Amino acid sequence: TVAVVLFTSDLRLHDHPPLRAALKAADEVVPLFVLDSGIRAAGFDAPNRRAFLADCLRDLDTSLRRRGGRLVVRTGPVAREVGAVAAECGAAEVHMAAGVTSYAHHREERLRGRLGESGVALRVHEAVTTVVAPGTVTPSGSDHFAVFTPYFRRWDRKRPRQPLSAPRSVPVPEGVRGRPVPERAEVSGTSPGLPAGGETAGRDRFARWSRAGLSRYADGHDDLAGDATSRLSPYLHFGALSPVELVHRARERGGPGADAFVRQLCWRDFHHQVLAARPEASVRDYRTRHDHWRGEEDAAGDIAAWREGRTGYPVVDAAMRQLRHEGWMHNRARLLTASFLTKTLYVDWRIGARHFLDLLVDGDIVNNQLNWQWVAGTGTDTRPHRVLNPLVQAKRFDPDGAYVRRWVPELGDVDGRAVHEPWRLPEDRREGLGYPAPLIGLADGLARFRHARGRD
Ligand code: FAD
Repeated sequence: TVAVVLFTSDLRLHDHPPLRAALKAADEVVPLFVLDSGIRAAGFDAPNRRAFLADCLRDLDTSLRRRGGRLVVRTGPVAREVGAVAAECGAAEVHMAAGVTSYAHHREERLRGRLGESGVALRVHEAVTTVVAPGTVTPSGSDHFAVFTPYFRRWDRKRPRQPLSAPRSVPVPEGVRGRPVPERAEVSGTSPGLPAGGETAGRDRFARWSRAGLSRYADGHDDLAGDATSRLSPYLHFGALSPVELVHRARERGGPGADAFVRQLCWRDFHHQVLAARPEASVRDYRTRHDHWRGEEDAAGDIAAWREGRTGYPVVDAAMRQLRHEGWMHNRARLLTASFLTKTLYVDWRIGARHFLDLLVDGDIVNNQLNWQWVAGTGTDTRPHRVLNPLVQAKRFDPDGAYVRRWVPELGDVDGRAVHEPWRLPEDRREGLGYPAPLIGLADGLARFRHARGRD
């Protein structure tokens, strides 16, 4: 007997319940990945993620080959391709992980319909991309938690399942057709500092970071220049690492760093359970609606300056340039750049979220849209009117200015924290820098914010 395992956001062999179940149910399995034309049509396959995905697929194929198998890659509408592969290999079952976005739900429906026509069963496995499945930790009287802290308290008491080891052998039948596994080199327009993708690279990174970085995480994770966070987000986005396994490994090490790291992982689950319950929150204001945002027509110049990292606020510009160069940005930098766009420039959060999705290698409908809503004050923040002052943030989280000097070469010769306020430098020095004056005074930004919120 043969079963198909459809890989989606779970590109790994360790801790993979659908693969384990398929190997148990059948003598042979077909590990399948479909380069889904539906995702391409939605404009979601930005170059950075396409390149990282190519690495993940190549690594998965290599690991499968070591176990006697291989990865079958197809291109096209996902339901059609899965149906065709199931027919070619005579599979009775297709196993896959559950998703939470509306796209994932529609995909499941289409697959169920297509496979049902030919008598093939679709088996959907929960909690592969999160630690606990959305909908399993709920308050009484509601289908999800709308505030993080009470969710975290309940989540933290729940013991996650034991992670599964990688299978020793994966027997794959002969004769199932596939296209060559894509190569990163085929993708153009990627950020120069993009990390290597794949389960092997992700496991290596976690092993190294958990030895040296985990114990420093509790105190150091907000230090912009220290760069002390795990940088595991792209591996989690593609499922090259299992969040269940990370929670177990971190708890084995223990200590305040591990606790803080596990709490941060809980944010992923929190956002997943919000979006699973309210799929429309990927585009519409979740809790509080605001109608007076500035859009592309009103704020084209400001938006362009923000995207390009020339707002005149060095910490904002450093962060936006890091995003373009690495396809990744530090969480503190994401918070302050998003706050600057939505609350100082008063630009619609969807415009910022789109730009992040165009570049972030971990760019994710769930985490990106709901974090943007959190910052914009339309989402789950219990203090929706807070505004992060970029200057205060800069002095607190980049006290010596090293982060700014790393990313804004025009300011490379300005010493210490003076780098955060180039407008205070003597005029002749300032003019020689070739760095722009601030787009807007912070007091003016705050006044516009208050005025707009007053009208909403
Ligand atoms: P670490 O600090 O090492 O944290 C460990 C893991 O916890 C991360 O890899 C991530 O999976 C998870 N995590 C940490 N913080 C959050 C958070 N606030 N929300 C959800 N998960 C979190 N994260 C994404 O994965 N994809 C996105 O598209 C995304 N967009 C964001 C947009 C904005 C405006 C903001 C403020 C945050 C966004 N985040 C997003 C969350 C967070 O910034 C990144 O997960 C984090 O910076 C990744 O770096 P790291 O792996 O070193 O994190």
